[in-house]
Amino acid sequence: SNGTSGHKVEVHQGDKTIIKTKPRIERNRVLVTGGAGFVGSHLCTYLVERGDHVICVDNFFTGSKENVAHLLGKTNFELIRHDVVEKLLLEVDQIYHLACPASPVHYKYNPIKTIKTSFIGTMNMLGLAKRTHARFLLTSTSEVYGDPLEHPQTESYWGNVNCIGERSCYDEGKRAAECLTFDYQREHNLEVRVVRIFNTYGPRMALDDGRVVSNFVAQALTGTPLTIYGHGEQTRSFQYVSDLIEGMVRVMDGPHTGPFNIGNPTEFTMLELAQVVKEVVNPKAQITYKENTADDPTRRKPDITKAKKMLGWQPKVELREGLSKMVDDFTKRLCVEKPAI
Ligand code: NAD
Ligand code: UDP
Repeated sequence: SNGTSGHKVEVHQGDKTIIKTKPRIERNRVLVTGGAGFVGSHLCTYLVERGDHVICVDNFFTGSKENVAHLLGKTNFELIRHDVVEKLLLEVDQIYHLACPASPVHYKYNPIKTIKTSFIGTMNMLGLAKRTHARFLLTSTSEVYGDPLEHPQTESYWGNVNCIGERSCYDEGKRAAECLTFDYQREHNLEVRVVRIFNTYGPRMALDDGRVVSNFVAQALTGTPLTIYGHGEQTRSFQYVSDLIEGMVRVMDGPHTGPFNIGNPTEFTMLELAQVVKEVVNPKAQITYKENTADDPTRRKPDITKAKKMLGWQPKVELREGLSKMVDDFTKRLCVEKPAI
């Protein structure tokens, strides 16, 4: 119970029955794996502020202590260095499972570790959820749709993934993680939730993250040319991080399993994105073209009808507004002056 007075339990010792008072649970105990990463740090902040007891677990592969420095010292926040490929014993009520590198640059760096993290890491966290009867939320990805043949992508689309390509450690890892999550629900009656996150950006993205928005913003701020891979005609749809957090928490606290697409459906080519970054960050920025990477999806845009209907959720922050919210944070961390617009 979440009562404030604790509750009495009968304990039988031989022929004696004693009454013990179980310690009261005042707070929702929430585990956030990958909590020191970009999305995780925003989620931890949100949950700590609403009064949950948050346990952040991270191996600091791409995340950092700086991302959660503002939470250290709060009585309802704990930080544990741990790799989810190893077992973890904790008592919790909810598990947000984010631990996994998300940028192509990082997940291709050690692809075998990436797929191990996705599969074994998810299996370990599902095992923990089973033992503690916690509700489990998996952060899956739009990458499960691969290079999509359906546009925009609905949750019922099965995807088009190259299972032996350079991106498959991530794509197939997440597909296997979804499979495991649904099998734990079917086999063990676990309460599970799945969100498929579309490209998300915002403050605290690692400066060396390598994803397009953080690259362009950092390049525009440091006066280096924006690197467009290929001809820049490929598309993505960019979501500001606060919209994602609101969507994820709604899914976790709501009654529906999903999967739910959580993303902003406004679609941009990379050339258009570069143009908007120039407008918002630095009109003098130049553009340079580089060879594209293998299996790069040609277009991506979420259909969010399901989330709108079942969660009453939709994104609020448009690209220009979101980008300008990133500039202060990036300016500070890059130690540069903000260019005059
Ligand atoms: P990120 O790289 O900033 O965060 C991932 C975090 O997980 C990091 O703190 C990292 O150190 C940690 N981690 C990695 N491997 C681990 C392991 N084995 N054990 C413990 N911790 C480990 O990336 P992000 O953008 O914050 O992504 C968070 C989650 O959301 C990921 O699961 C990612 O797949 C998913 N996602 C993100 C996006 C996006 O656009 N940001 C899109 C789709 C899905
Ligand atoms: N991209 C780019 N320049 C960069 C980084 C990425 O043009 O500096 C392109 C990349 O080829 C892809 C898109 O931007 O088409 C999104 O890439 P990102 O790595 O951000 O995420 P993805 O959606 O591919 O996981």
